[in-house]
Amino acid sequence: MNDSDDSFLRCLSILIIRRMIKNARQKEYYNSHKEQCKGYVDPEKTRERGRRYRQRHPEVGRERTNRWRKNNPGKLRALKKQRRYRDCNAIGRFTLEEWNTKLEEYNYRCAYCGCELNSDTVTIDHQIPLSRGGTNYIENIAPACKICNCKKYTKTAEEYLSELESSI
Ligand SMILES: [Zn+2]
Repeated sequence: MNDSDDSFLRCLSILIIRRMIKNARQKEYYNSHKEQCKGYVDPEKTRERGRRYRQRHPEVGRERTNRWRKNNPGKLRALKKQRRYRDCNAIGRFTLEEWNTKLEEYNYRCAYCGCELNSDTVTIDHQIPLSRGGTNYIENIAPACKICNCKKYTKTAEEYLSELESSI
């Protein structure tokens, strides 16, 4: 892995984690301070307003989305992943430092097949899948290549590893 890969990877991790921390904090704070938060803008309302605007001006949104998608392939993936976490209501969060340490720990290789990872191929794997009660804490996180993450799907790390071993 060269230096520019490394720094791009760090950038991507920063984006993912910052958004994750921000969302979780906001939600937590809002839930425990509902009374005092009169000025708080409910994200659901903001989304609703955005939806209405897009309905009235479909051409603006389409063009902007296409341009953004073309310029930000990595960000788009990160956002999709975030959306998935949000939908799962995953418990826990990890920091950028923890994620970077994890990547170093695995020597920037897939936790399962051992292939080398870069910013385009690395994915965040939940060793015990969120759908099976796994958390979003770093203890449950490992770097994985897209192929393994996809094949592993709702299996635990242990189940997937024994499947890999038996297929050799
Ligand atoms: Zn792999």
